[in-house]
Amino acid sequence: MRIGIISDIHSNMEALNTVLEGLRGDVDEIICLGDIIGYGPNPRECCDIVRDNKIYSICGNHDSACYDDSLIDYFNPLAREAIIWTRSQLTQDYLDYLRRLPFEDVLYGLRIVHGAPGEPFEYITTIQDARAAFISFDEDVCFIGHSHIMEYFELKKGSVIIRQLPLRNKQELSLEEDKRYIINTGSVGQPRDGDPRSACIIYDTSEKRLTAHRVPYKIDIVQKKMQLKGLPQILWERLGVGR
Ligand code: ZN
Repeated sequence: MRIGIISDIHSNMEALNTVLEGLRGDVDEIICLGDIIGYGPNPRECCDIVRDNKIYSICGNHDSACYDDSLIDYFNPLAREAIIWTRSQLTQDYLDYLRRLPFEDVLYGLRIVHGAPGEPFEYITTIQDARAAFISFDEDVCFIGHSHIMEYFELKKGSVIIRQLPLRNKQELSLEEDKRYIINTGSVGQPRDGDPRSACIIYDTSEKRLTAHRVPYKIDIVQKKMQLKGLPQILWERLGVGR
């Protein structure tokens, strides 16, 4: 079985549609690791596309902040401004949909969570973070998003040595039986690893092999829409540089 794994769409409809076009026909199923909305100009459309394409999604911190007031203080001022704007765009039906998304799950033996196992809104960006995270789940493989950086951590079973390695476009990785992995699928709608192209992963469950993909999309159209909707300049500028 081939699974398309996406994350951090962030209301970027152009990026989402472009990624889905590439995945269609090539995978049996698509899963999303959260943050369907936030930052970008098309929150309703992105929720509709995820639902219409039967993409199973877990909940991200931005999704959650749309219905949970207690979370809003944890965001920086720019993200908060975008969340308040996003809320104004979402009717009750969309909020109910986001509220029903689970925070964590295990599918086909793979753990999936937005941030970190047991801590859905925490970040795993360092070897120290990964060390704590590897203790918090039992499966060999955990897919995450949240940092918008496409990379992976590997831990040899019975060892304490963890390696942190980037994932680049077209890179293939065969998962080894004697290792455990935390794999960050990167972001569809707001990459921050210096590559402004959308990120997604295709994982073959029987071969235990993944391929990383970076997909160019029409960034200028999204930037124009964000300008017109009055979203903060830094948020649309960063799409162009992937930072
Ligand atoms: Zn995000």
